[in-house]
Parts: sequence; structure tokens; C-alpha cells
Amino acid sequence: MNYDVVVVGGGIGGLTTAIRSAELGKKVAIIEKEELGGECLNRACIPSKTLIDAVKLVYKTSKSNWINGKVEINYDKLGLFKNEIIKNVKDSFTSVLSKYHIDVIKGQASITREGEIEVNGNTLTTDMTVIATGSEPLSLADFPLNGRNVVDPWTAMNLPSLPNDIIIVGGGVAGVELATLFRAMNKDVTIIELMPRLLPVPGIDIEVANEVKKRLEEKGVKIYLNTKSKILKSEDKVIFTAQTPSSTEEVKGDLAVITIGRKPVVNGIDLKAIKVETDQRGYIKVDSRARTSNPKVYAVGDVAGAPLSATKAWRQGVVAGDNIGGKNNEMPKYIPSSIFADLEIGVVGQTAEELKKAGVEAREIKVFMKEIPRAWTLNEPEGFLKVYVDSTGKILGANMVGEGATEVINTLALAMELSLKLSDLYRVQFSHPTISEVITEISQRGIYGEIY
Ligand SMILES: Cc1cc2nc3c(=O)[nH]c(=O)nc-3n(C[C@H](O)[C@H](O)[C@H](O)COP(=O)(O)OP(=O)(O)OC[C@H]3O[C@@H](n4cnc5c(N)ncnc54)[C@H](O)[C@@H]3O)c2cc1C
Repeated sequence: MNYDVVVVGGGIGGLTTAIRSAELGKKVAIIEKEELGGECLNRACIPSKTLIDAVKLVYKTSKSNWINGKVEINYDKLGLFKNEIIKNVKDSFTSVLSKYHIDVIKGQASITREGEIEVNGNTLTTDMTVIATGSEPLSLADFPLNGRNVVDPWTAMNLPSLPNDIIIVGGGVAGVELATLFRAMNKDVTIIELMPRLLPVPGIDIEVANEVKKRLEEKGVKIYLNTKSKILKSEDKVIFTAQTPSSTEEVKGDLAVITIGRKPVVNGIDLKAIKVETDQRGYIKVDSRARTSNPKVYAVGDVAGAPLSATKAWRQGVVAGDNIGGKNNEMPKYIPSSIFADLEIGVVGQTAEELKKAGVEAREIKVFMKEIPRAWTLNEPEGFLKVYVDSTGKILGANMVGEGATEVINTLALAMELSLKLSDLYRVQFSHPTISEVITEISQRGIYGEIY
């Protein structure tokens, strides 16, 4: 069979590339060895957010003293609800694939020659090849996964029941989100992080990380920072040795969830044979148009390197599809990131520290959420928004922690992508009472200083 475009990998990156190329008139096939939707839809973003939102709801009711009675989670029913959500989102993708007559082929693809894809014993020929094969957890020597009590995040979220004592290795995005989830389910949760701060992730301000740490600790999560750990035994209990700056402790739990270390998936794809270059860690090198070193091969999503997010994968797929379909499109300058922790976080662009390191002078403007009426009506007045601006008022970065941060950050990404200044934002009215009013407040404060 002959195609204009064959996409290998049916995760978010692969799906958006296939759909966009087909919208632009190309004859497209997408090959997926497991489930359409890949990591994000089946194992990561969608299931984890469904669970986190559900347990946060219960948490919220428990601190609302005007609600009578006790609200409890039925974990079995919540699991069924999560599967239903996954199915609904997947059905919606499947109907678009069929609308654009995209051939969906189930099977493991392999590539040894340019323009030829082997799957299920057949050879597909194609003008353009798109590699969208994602990334997978690494089994590290110090934390060997066993699928039983030392597991990756997806396995943990899909266990039929969760044990009491859960140790999360890694205080990055996945670690913090899972700690929020498990603690809200009344589990004893410990995070062990190697770095001296929580969320040691580019773009996340230290003050935001500390605010989230404070909230998690208030809720009872134990957090070790600056701690080198290693699993000693995992027969019955999982036993760690944890070397803190001041002592070496033994930490025990029923379940260890390892959230660190991923690697690109390129099994069966002979990148050398098709002249596609990779970086030192094996991720495929791409330019701002998602093109690899071979003009006939594009790569999108996790396999094309950091940031490993569905946000980026989605956009890179659209960009690749546009370019394959004859349009001229580039990746946006700013890719926002949302973290669904307790409290929520939204970040875009660089932090004050990163700007300083890059030699860029920036002014920081900050508004506390307790100054925004909607935060009070939602009973969530903690947190703040910070933006960093240059001398002309152009926004260079934003970090928000607090209710609604995962939505507000998109408006700031829009402002940054369009090179808007505080004075432009000051002209816009947001409806009242909403969390977005924090943007009005920040523009006003940036221009006129504190007015209350
Ligand atoms: C717990 C957790 C929570 C997350 N939450 C978020 C979030 O809230 N927001 C966000 O933006 N990101 C989030 N992420 C990251 C996000 O899941 C990934 O960045 C995203 O799924 C990557 O998409 P992709 O299309 O590149 O790859 P994948 O989703 O990994 O898809 C690749 C697909 O290719 C298939 N494949 C591989 N090799 C072959 C082959 N040879 N032949 C055929 N098929 C093949 C695989 O089966 C897979 O389905 C989270 C990650 C984790 C672990």
C-alpha cells in the first residue's frame, strides 16, 4: 500500500500529526502497537487528572464545615469512571480519524529503509515518515521495577487497591501529582527527592515549589529533599536507604512508585539507516518545524526530546502536519505547563532565576490570591501569581500557584506569544468574580504599583 504520510505511534503527537496532514489532503496511515492515545490518554494525563480531580472534590467537601455527613471514595467505581472518560476521549479521536479516512493499523512497525515501513508482515511505502513513538520509564539499577511493589506511575494508578504506605521516588511533576492523589486517599505518603528542592523542573520558581511543599506537608506528606536513595529489598516491604545531608536512614513502605528516568522508544527503527540524528540521550533531533536531519522524516512528541509533555506533543504534531501538508508552521516560542497538584501550578517562560542566569534584567510583579475575591468564594485563597517583565513591560515569564492556575497560565502564554506588554493587558477587562482577574490586577500593579 502506498501513502503520502505514515505515522508510527498513535499517541497524542502521532494523532495530531495524522489528523492535520489528512485535513490538508494527504493520504495517511497511523500505526499503533497498543492503544490509540498512547501514554497521555491511557496511562498519564487523562487518567491521572480524572483521579486527582475526583479525590480533590472529596478533600474539598471534608474541609467545608457546612456539609453534613461524610463523603467517601468508592475506589472501584472511581476506576470505572476513569475508564469511561478514557473511552469517551478515545472515541472522539477515532471518529475524527475515520472522518478524514485515515487508515489505522494495529501492529508494531519497523523501519530499516527510507520510505518503507514494515508492519504485520506487510511493507507500506510512503513519501513522508513521522516517528511519534514516545518515551517509556527506565528501570534504574537503584530502583528496579518489578511490577508488584516497585512500579511506574501508571501501574500504581491501576492497582486494584492501594496499600497504606507509599514511597514516591522523585519530587518532579509526576511525583507531586501522585502524592496529591494518594494523600487525598488517606494513604501515608513519602516523597524522596535527590535535589535540594521540590519540583526541580525548568520554568518552576523556587517560591512556587516551596508553597506546594508547604501544602503537601500540611496535608501529612513526608518529604525528603537533598536525599540520595536506593532500594535495598523489595520482597515483602520495600526498604530504602536514604542518605540525607545529616544522616542515613532506613525508609520502609508497602509500595514504591518510581517517577524518575525515561528513555525514547525507538525499538525496531533503524535511525542510522534512515539518516536521522539523535542527541546524546537518544532523543531524535528536530528543528522548530519538527523536521529531522532527513527531509523525508519528521519526529514529534516525547521521542523528539524535552519537554516531555502532551502539551508539546500535541502542538508539535499540528506543526508537523501543517508543514507536511504544505503550510509553513513553527513551534510556538512558549509552551506552558500545568501541574495538577494541591495547589495547582501553571508556568510559562522563564523564572527570575533563569532570566538572571541568562543575563536578562527583569522586574518581578506579584499578586497574592487572597487579593482576588473569587479565590475566597472558592474557599482557596492561598497562592500567588508572579510575572517577570522587561523594562518595556513585555512579559518574559509567569509562575502561578493556586486555584485556577492551570487555566490562567494559558492567557499569559497567549500574551507572551503575541509579545503583549502589561499596558496591553491593562486595556482588557476580565469578568468578575473570576480567578483571571489576577491578570488585571498584575497589569495594574505592574504599571501603577500597589494601589490598595
Ligand atoms: C503520570 C504522568 C502524568 C502526565 N501528565 C501530563 C499532563 O497532565 N500534561 C502533559 O502535557 N503531559 C503529561 N504527561 C506527559 C505525557 O503523557 C507525554 O508527554 C505524552 O503522552 C507523549 O506523547 P507522545 O505522542 O509523544 O508519546 P506516547 O503517548 O508515548 O505515544 C507513543 C505511542 O507509540 C506507540 N509505539 C511505540 N513504538 C511503536 C512502534 N514501533 N510501532 C507502533 N507503535 C509504536 C506506543 O505504543 C504509544 O502508544 C504525564 C506523564 C506521566 C507519566
